[in-house]
Amino acid sequence: MSDLTRRHVLAAAGAAPLVFAAGSALAQTAEGQPMPAGAAPQPAPPGERMGWAIVGLGSYGINQVIPGFADARQSKMTAFVSGNPAKARDLGARHGVSRFYDYANYDTMKDNEAIDCVYIVLPVGLHAEYTIRALEAGKHVMCEKPMASTSAECEAMVAAARANGRQLGIGYRVHFEPHNREALRRIKAGEIGAMRYIQCDHGFNASLDYPPHKWRLDKVLGGGGSMYDVGIYGINTSLMMLEGDTPKAVSAIYAYPRDDPRFAEVEGGIDWRMTMASGINVQGSSSYCYGPYASRQRYFGAEASIIMDPATTYYDNALAIEGGGQPRREIGAGNSREQFAAQLDGFSEAARANRPHLTPGEMGLRDLRLMEAMYRSADAGGAVIEL
Ligand code: NAD
Repeated sequence: MSDLTRRHVLAAAGAAPLVFAAGSALAQTAEGQPMPAGAAPQPAPPGERMGWAIVGLGSYGINQVIPGFADARQSKMTAFVSGNPAKARDLGARHGVSRFYDYANYDTMKDNEAIDCVYIVLPVGLHAEYTIRALEAGKHVMCEKPMASTSAECEAMVAAARANGRQLGIGYRVHFEPHNREALRRIKAGEIGAMRYIQCDHGFNASLDYPPHKWRLDKVLGGGGSMYDVGIYGINTSLMMLEGDTPKAVSAIYAYPRDDPRFAEVEGGIDWRMTMASGINVQGSSSYCYGPYASRQRYFGAEASIIMDPATTYYDNALAIEGGGQPRREIGAGNSREQFAAQLDGFSEAARANRPHLTPGEMGLRDLRLMEAMYRSADAGGAVIEL
């Protein structure tokens, strides 16, 4: 072996020695190189990212919100708020979070400068209280959809944000989802011609045995039924694609088995229509009785239509264009998973600049007013409610 000018011998237990001889490519010394051209954008250093407290460590919080921070560049988790300290500490150890609060000492977050933004991921009936308390503690707040149980609560939340000079955003992640952003871009570019009609269906089969569904079937905690939980995707996403247009009238009809014991407090299904100032009708359904899962939007234009099925899921949305004299084309728009980090960073940037988020509290209030009008219509057997 002494005839080699430079070599390394690595002997793994039970394996033949590996000899890297000078002159072979493998004998080159490892050394630093410049940042690769085209390297992916890197996160800001931790000290420059906005610090977030996550309030409510349930299924959406743990499965979607927390993983979203792994891809975020402007946002980092600095605190967990939970009524279950063991769960919070266990998750904290796994995610590098070391500050913990519960619902009693919640307001003391005001003294923690490591918390810039608070993310409310609690059942709907608790959104208003914990959003307002966080705003009064001087924090910017991202609140999950639907914004609250009533439009009166939403108004109080918007007023609290203004009074405290803080931003309030609503967790309408679809605005940050690549397929939906691409659909919006193509609609705006005129690729389907003038919009004529939008159809949307959202639903799943609710189970009283599954805790995250249990509170959704409880009026106080859920606020409303399927319309609040999933119908809101149809309303909000359609309005996203109809930017600049305004709803002028709504009507709705309940659509679910009235003897189903799951729906003693909230509606199991509702079919609705929203007429825009332009005359375009948006027609949708939302249900807790659909199996397995419906999440679809269809945009009918004068020349072509966009089909999104699924349209508003976490990981696997699809976008296709049909018509315009061409066969149906599937459009790849990116990875739906990106929406979680994009939403976090979008809010961090808005909070840092103290300017309104893409999906602000006022948008959540608008949607609550629309849903309340739809319930009024359904209660009246489908009467048209002028807005
Ligand atoms: P979940 O039941 O899994 O989690 C709720 C959390 O709130 C749990 O950690 C629970 O311990 C806590 N909590 C505190 N007080 C409670 C009480 N009195 N009753 C019940 N739970 C209480 O629910 P989830 O599915 O994670 O939904 C949480 C929020 O996130 C809701 O506002 C929901 O609409 C929203 N969400 C949004 C999306 C989305 O795609 N944007 C998806 C799912 C849920």
